[in-house]
Parts: sequence; structure tokens; C-alpha cells
Amino acid sequence: MTKTIAITGGKGGTGKTLIATNLAINLANNGYKTLFIDCDVENPNSNILLGKSLTTPDVEKESIAIYKPSFLQESCTKCGICRSACYRHAILQFPDHFPSVLEHMCSGCKTCQKVCPNGAIITDSRIIGSQYFLKQAYSNLDLLVGELNPSEAISVKIVEALFHYSEKLSEKANYDFIIIDTAPGAHCDVEKSISDADLVIAVTEPTPFGEHDLNRILDLLDVVGQKADIILNRSNLTHYQEPLRSLAKTRNCNIIGEIPVDSVVIEDYAKGLPFVLDTRNFPAKSAFNLIYSKILEGITMEL
Ligand code: SF4
Ligand code: SF4
Repeated sequence: MTKTIAITGGKGGTGKTLIATNLAINLANNGYKTLFIDCDVENPNSNILLGKSLTTPDVEKESIAIYKPSFLQESCTKCGICRSACYRHAILQFPDHFPSVLEHMCSGCKTCQKVCPNGAIITDSRIIGSQYFLKQAYSNLDLLVGELNPSEAISVKIVEALFHYSEKLSEKANYDFIIIDTAPGAHCDVEKSISDADLVIAVTEPTPFGEHDLNRILDLLDVVGQKADIILNRSNLTHYQEPLRSLAKTRNCNIIGEIPVDSVVIEDYAKGLPFVLDTRNFPAKSAFNLIYSKILEGITMEL
């Protein structure tokens, strides 16, 4: 049975992707067939941390398109029903004129087509982003990355497309683990990324911003009926650990580990080398390995 772990965090820059990529590499190195899905579609960069390019011939790229209404003027009576029904106010229609769509505001929900009494709306599509699939990014590790085109707003559609594609991959590949790197924040594409995970891990840092944003992601988890384990990254960056520990206690969450600031991690990060592949011993790797054991033990016992 595939186990899905979502790595999230209310705030950008906490080390969420760093932890997600190293977790995926460790699982793959230990013989678990793993799929890594980069759902941070507005700024995907997991491939850089994994030291992989998305422009090499072995990467399969596919465009992701969503529904777009197309209006047939010969059938349209200019009744305005479609404009009134559009919850995103994406249909522009002046009195006695034909409607037109404001593409960047359209979510592709198809409501307009369903309510048109004259069959004057037909299906069209527009490309809003891409997905990249790299089989065997590392031994036992496949990589799936989503990318939203600049200026597009419907990031959740890219995340939905990634999950749809991953279901097809899973049928063939029998993954032991799927690791999801979510976007930062607490919006709908993060909600989609964490909703069905077997385990959610929130990465934070010991700052007031970390505390604030952790609170927000825990609120989102409450909304979707999920709980999170917490990793305190760069744990010795400040002396602001206690408020985070207290928050975790209040929200009934476990801090499963604290990873200290470590110059070796920064050095590896700059080289695009996952730090778990660095053969040296250093404090951050020891802390990470402890967390890895807890995750593996926890998720194996739970399922
Ligand atoms: S609902 Fe149909 S007929 Fe009415 S304005 Fe829209 S497209 Fe035209
Ligand atoms: S598909 Fe949905 S969002 Fe787009 S124009 Fe039609 S009703 Fe509005």
C-alpha cells in the first residue's frame, strides 16, 4: 500500500523543500520505491535541490490546460444568464452585446455552459502550465513537478492535474511512498496537497513569523480534518524556541525533531547536493536521520 507524506509549512523559506527532497532520497536509498511530487507550482525548485534539470531529453513535459468557454454568436440571444451565473465574474457582457470571457479570471468550472439555455457555449481550452516527469531521478526515485505559467492564478488546477497523473503512474509503478512538497501558505492548492495524505509534516523555524504561519497551517489542517507532526528547522537560529514548543502543545501536535543550522547543509545546498548523500557526519544530518527513523516507524505502525 502506498503511503503518502505531505511536507508543508505556512511560511516560505523554512526548509520545507530541503526536508522533503532529503526524505525522498533517504527512502529511495533504503530501497523504497518513491515518487516525489513538487506541488509548489508557482515556484517549483525541488529539481534544483535534487541536482536535476527539467530540460534534458529524459524529462517528459506535458502542457496542462483547463476548460474555457467559447461563445457561438449564431446561437446566443444575449440573455445574460451565463454572466449572472459566473461566480468569478469572468464573463464580460455589455447591454445588447455578446458575452466574452476574461480568461485569467475563469476557473474552468463550466457553469456557464451548463446554464446556457441555447447551447451557445461550447468547450474550448487554454494552457495554464506544465508538468515534468523524470523517471529515475535517482535510483528508486521518480520526480513529478508542476509549474503554473507566470500571471496565471488557478494553481489548484495544476495540483489536481499532478495528482491525476500520479494516480496513473501509481498503477504501473507500485510506489511504497509518495512525498509531496506543498506550496507555502494556507490556500486551496495547499489544501488539495495535504487533504488525502497519510501523514502531514509542518516545517517551521524559531521566529515570530514561523510561529504565526505555523498557526495558520494548523488552522487549515483543522479545516480538512488532518493533524500534523512538526519539524523545527534551523532550531538554534534564535532563542525563540519556547513559543513554538508551547504552540505545538496547545495545538496537540508533536515536534518530531529539531534540525540545527549547519554550514555543511548550506554548502551542499549551494551545490545542489541532497545533504543525506554527503558522506560526512554533521549535526544536521544526525538530527535528520533521527527524524527519518521516527517518520518511518510512525507511518509503518499507523498503517
Ligand atoms: S447564456 Fe447563452 S444565450 Fe445567454 S448570453 Fe450566455 S451564451 Fe448567450
Ligand atoms: S467556466 Fe466558470 S469561471 Fe469560467 S466563465 Fe464559465 S462560469 Fe465563469
